Amino acid sequence: MRIVFFGAPGSGKGTQAAILKSTFGIPHISTGDLLRGHVARCTELGRKAKAVMEAGQLVSDDLVLGMLEDRLAEADAKPGFILDGYPRNLVQADALGALLARIGQPLDIVIKLNVPHDAILERCAKRFAEQGRKDDDPEVVRGRLAVYSEQTAPVAAYYSRTGQLVEIDGVGELASVTARILAAVESAA
Ligand code: AMP
Repeated sequence: MRIVFFGAPGSGKGTQAAILKSTFGIPHISTGDLLRGHVARCTELGRKAKAVMEAGQLVSDDLVLGMLEDRLAEADAKPGFILDGYPRNLVQADALGALLARIGQPLDIVIKLNVPHDAILERCAKRFAEQGRKDDDPEVVRGRLAVYSEQTAPVAAYYSRTGQLVEIDGVGELASVTARILAAVESAA
């Protein structure tokens, strides 16, 4: 199963992807987590990405694609994967299509979690208080939502045209959202 989780920051992509990972036994690949790992290890990529991430902007397409390509080449991703946080703009959507065609692993489904921006601001404020992620600062979240609306939201229309997009109501109990997602994935399988 090859799944993309799509949605605004704080829409629950990471949480739901982590649940599905054990259901399907495939890795959860979050470009945000991979980038945070590089920042924590002070790699060259991490040094380049740190300030951009803290400002809530997008890291350059080339850097993220190279990192993703390396991750998808690992053995555990051969049976499938759950992508979270990629693609984030139309250039990345095209790049992903080309990469997956090259490795013979086309996407099965793109799940878009719909959560109103008010609820997202609340969720990120809570995460900021609990985890202290600099980009969850309410001011930065507003900027990230603007980046999402301008650059990332058009990717939904792209996958709607390819027939791979399924929209899910991301509001409500965690287990109810998971059940909606599982039903969508089962009908795409
Ligand atoms: P996330 O954990 O997915 O919200 O990502 C945290 C931050 O990492 C984002 O605000 C971006 O700065 C960066 N990032 C994650 N994924 C991407 C991507 N696909 N393209 C560019 N930047 C990304």
